[in-house]
Amino acid sequence: MSLSARPDKVVPTARGGRVIVCYKSLQYLTESTAIPDALVSMHILLVEDDALLADSLSCSLRLSGYAVDCADNGESAVIAQEHCNFDLLILDLGLPKLDGFAVLRQMRAHRAPPVPVLILTARDGLEDRVRGLDLGADDYLTKPFDLPELEARVRALLRRGRAATSATLALGPLTLDTAARRAFIGLRDMDLPARELTVLEVLLLHSGTAVSKEQMTDHLYSWDQEVTPNAIEVYIHRLRRKLEPIKINIRTLRGLGYLLDDDIKTT
Ligand code: CA
Repeated sequence: MSLSARPDKVVPTARGGRVIVCYKSLQYLTESTAIPDALVSMHILLVEDDALLADSLSCSLRLSGYAVDCADNGESAVIAQEHCNFDLLILDLGLPKLDGFAVLRQMRAHRAPPVPVLILTARDGLEDRVRGLDLGADDYLTKPFDLPELEARVRALLRRGRAATSATLALGPLTLDTAARRAFIGLRDMDLPARELTVLEVLLLHSGTAVSKEQMTDHLYSWDQEVTPNAIEVYIHRLRRKLEPIKINIRTLRGLGYLLDDDIKTT
């Protein structure tokens, strides 16, 4: 999330989780388990009002390397996605305050570029599927579901959302396997720590486009995580050193952000 849109406070709940109160606008996001610091990837907003399902699914997704925030009603989901550059929304349809269709309609009316949306619902009727997809959902999965299938669909949508067609991203001798969470120079595993890997992944996914520090922060951190102002600069600095031997540079474009470059060397 952006540095300017941090939640106002994080409050422990009776269930052992946390409620994140944000934006002074009485919107609430639920946060149930800590995010393993060593395993962080793309940023997902899970919109689900079934607390048990939200807890277990967000926990599983975090263990798979995603930063996950949860919204337990439609209004919170709309507010959250307006203020944060999520990489993907997993959206239930039956929600308090604003149902999933209304959330989708508002998102598609106002948000550009569109964020990939996977509808995850117990509603398996043809009419609901057609309506969801017609409103702009990118995928539709019905409950009960198998976690490996959900995660495969999540990976596919994240690739599609960034115009990548394969699980492997590449630039010159550099390749990054998004499923295995590993980056290679030629055949050599770079053995990158999770956050450096994610920074590199974001740069590769946005190849040819500058990525702002704020966007980068959104990819890397959930709402409740403290963000050190120079954290991104540290990861960029470390990556630059590791990519230098193959003449791939991360350019700093003043006022715009960072750009992966396989030839020009300027900072
Ligand atoms: Ca529901």
